[in-house]
Amino acid sequence: MAKVVVVGGSFAGLTAALDLRRGLGKEHDVVLISNNPDFVFIPSLPWVVLGSRTAKDVSFPLAPTLAKQGIEFLNEAITKIEPDKNIVHTKDKQINYDYLVLGTGPSLDFEAIEGLGPHNGYTQSICNLPHAMMAQVKFEEFMKNPGPVVVGVAQGGSCFGAGYEFVLNVDTYLRKHGIRDKVPVTWVTSEPFLGHFGLGGVGDSEKMVNRLFEERGIKTYPNHAISKIEPNQVILDDGTELPFNYSMIIPAFKGIDAILQSPGVGNARGFVPVNNEMRHPEYHNIFAAGVIVAMSPKTPTPVATGVPKTGYMSEHMAKAVARNIIADLGKMPNSEFDPYNMDALCMLDMGDSGVYMVVDPIFPPQRSYTLKYGPWVHAGKIAFEKYFIWKMKNGLTNLPI
Ligand SMILES: Cc1cc2nc3c(=O)[nH]c(=O)nc-3n(C[C@H](O)[C@H](O)[C@H](O)COP(=O)(O)OP(=O)(O)OC[C@H]3O[C@@H](n4cnc5c(N)ncnc54)[C@H](O)[C@@H]3O)c2cc1C
Repeated sequence: MAKVVVVGGSFAGLTAALDLRRGLGKEHDVVLISNNPDFVFIPSLPWVVLGSRTAKDVSFPLAPTLAKQGIEFLNEAITKIEPDKNIVHTKDKQINYDYLVLGTGPSLDFEAIEGLGPHNGYTQSICNLPHAMMAQVKFEEFMKNPGPVVVGVAQGGSCFGAGYEFVLNVDTYLRKHGIRDKVPVTWVTSEPFLGHFGLGGVGDSEKMVNRLFEERGIKTYPNHAISKIEPNQVILDDGTELPFNYSMIIPAFKGIDAILQSPGVGNARGFVPVNNEMRHPEYHNIFAAGVIVAMSPKTPTPVATGVPKTGYMSEHMAKAVARNIIADLGKMPNSEFDPYNMDALCMLDMGDSGVYMVVDPIFPPQRSYTLKYGPWVHAGKIAFEKYFIWKMKNGLTNLPI
């Protein structure tokens, strides 16, 4: 009998735990530890900021779902891992494991830039639900006193899709409210060109995204790092000053403290290295999936960018992890999974339309790709949100996507 401990209750962790429970015999235990009692559908957070979704619309409690599936749930934060002893720590518990799956997602590196972030700085964040709710309150205040908006992804950042979605949703929102002409909108990004996405581009994404931004009159600053944020302006590496009444900048990601404080588990930034079975190269009973997996850009960029790990990618990594633990315990052959060679599907929403992207593999030269623009993508994303939340709430990770 083995005990599999999964850390994280989101795209990676919840998928891995549900697939493991489905695939393993009853003699094995699956435990999920998450510091958040809820699953949150993070892709809807831009809509939370703009008021079309509430926290309740985009989340559900993990406990009933996990109890129904026979997965033990600990609503706690892990604080440290002792990989030589097979122990994971929370504040006052030591939990032994035979297998450990890390699906913890990132922590947000606001400290890298002076003035960045909603706690000790002047910019908003949409990277988690509490931040999106704070950003929503600030957006309501902004609407009473509209002025310039600056949206971007900082140097070292990887979550470009979310940044694009936010700036384009804000543009659509301001148009719908008849004040777009009074609000200059600016996009700042560490990508060397628009539509690079931290991957190197997808087909003619550079042309498509440039055209979209030109049509919408959004001023752009690609290939820039941010030097500093002051109360009402973003200062770029070349000294350009971008004034704002509202700003949302996505920071670089790093690993969570518990991994940074567990020697041997993560790399210098706290991301977890994996081999071609999604297994830690040193500790073969530790696996990782999702944003916490260490992946470096295939081609370095002049201003540092990270590799985006989307929900779709996180889920697929988690499925590979579950397959390999099930194979280990069933004494069956393992299967290979190379995150650098995986495919991805993404719907980039703009509030009234969107871009549908399928790439295989994620890095160019792609074997195949689809890039389509239209209002149907917005409708598709709403339908997908409902489907995905329903699927996860009911533990149905065996259904598509
Ligand atoms: C605004 C936004 C929009 C996005 N839109 C899309 C999109 O449209 N499509 C798409 O595919 N992807 C999208 N993404 C990316 C997607 O959200 C991520 O790929 C996905 O959330 C990664 O899942 P994860 O499980 O690796 O990490 P996370 O979702 O970050 O989850 C980490 C989990 O670990 C838990 N945890 C963290 N620390 C601890 C600890 N110390 N102890 C215990 N538990 C811990 C957390 O509570 C959480 O349950 C978007 C991201 C953002 C920010």
